[in-house]
Amino acid sequence: MRIAVLPGDGIGTEIVDAAVDVLQALGLPLELETAPVGGAAYESCGHPLPDSTLRVVDAADAVLFGAVGDWKYDTLERSLRPEQAILGLRKHLGLFANFRPALCYPELVGASTLRPDLVSGLDILIVRELTGDVYFGQPRGRRTATDGPFPGTAEAFDTMRYSRPEIERIARVAFDAARKRKQAGSAGKVTSVDKANVLETSGLWREVVTDIAAGYPDIAFEHMYVDNAAMQLVRNPRHFDVIVTGNLFGDILSDEAAMLTGSIGMLASASMNDAGKGLFEPSHGSAPDIAGKNVANPLATILSAAMMLRFSLGQPAAASAIEAAVKNVLAQGLRTADIHSNGCTLVGTREMGAAVVRAL
Ligand code: NAD
Repeated sequence: MRIAVLPGDGIGTEIVDAAVDVLQALGLPLELETAPVGGAAYESCGHPLPDSTLRVVDAADAVLFGAVGDWKYDTLERSLRPEQAILGLRKHLGLFANFRPALCYPELVGASTLRPDLVSGLDILIVRELTGDVYFGQPRGRRTATDGPFPGTAEAFDTMRYSRPEIERIARVAFDAARKRKQAGSAGKVTSVDKANVLETSGLWREVVTDIAAGYPDIAFEHMYVDNAAMQLVRNPRHFDVIVTGNLFGDILSDEAAMLTGSIGMLASASMNDAGKGLFEPSHGSAPDIAGKNVANPLATILSAAMMLRFSLGQPAAASAIEAAVKNVLAQGLRTADIHSNGCTLVGTREMGAAVVRAL
């Protein structure tokens, strides 16, 4: 089982090191090859996603990714900025389906900014479309306005677009996931989030998801506008089981959902293509504000490695063992700064990683 390891920038190296230690402790025949990406690759190769890194990715069965980005690259032209690496990898591998489970562990109920009675027992899956929408739509650019309220002035524009097959395949992924979760005791419900009262793309989205829903009579189904979904996520988050939405809305809602779980440092993610190859990364960014200080929470990355074992490498038992080890260290009262509360033991990134290895 070959894994491409792309630590990236900021806290990327620290959290990926912790996850690699956990993977190596499993005793599985894993071959890990590390390659630069993001700002680190720009520094060493002049491009955030060099061909040499793409070769490592193509030869691998799965990709373990840290995070990319740093404010010091904000003045680079857009195509050379670190963030282009993750967008480029999603496009290169066709990673259209992003799974972001937002799970509130009983031990972290007090770390959420919401009342314990709202978040305890929370278990939501956000399925975000990842290769379409306004992030990839063409045309985009800058020009001088020829119409609108201020003709003759500089303006910028992006294009939000979705085709029927793009919506069909992500909807199927969401309904299949809801069915699988139902077998494991979840509600068996899909909430499709859009802005169909305003946007043409959302109008098509709603039509297509409704068509796909007809093939899943065992799964409850509803539509919700994105502004209402943002509100319901903090008003009554347990209303949701599986949320399926487009790239832009999913980006925002999944960060919001992260805070329900206590910290963005707890939120794992898997991005899959239709061949079952995936890229596994924490939902957060490179956190330059805390990089190099041994304070970042590595659990989202460790849990992403567990998703990699389950989704791409066919090792569900190893995945469950990692998840149980994470629960175990939380039950021991070990906490990084982002999830720390009174009475718990404050530990750093390395110590948290080592504790998971011990628990394994
Ligand atoms: P961020 O997710 O990096 O950080 C937001 C806040 O959460 C910060 O206060 C940070 O310290 C904290 N945080 C994040 N991860 C944490 C962890 N594991 N443990 C403890 N605290 C954690 O988002 P940002 O500050 O908006 O962006 C920083 C950089 O990351 C930017 O360059 C951005 O473009 C990039 N970014 C990259 C990705 C990616 O690589 N997939 C995703 C989002 C943002």
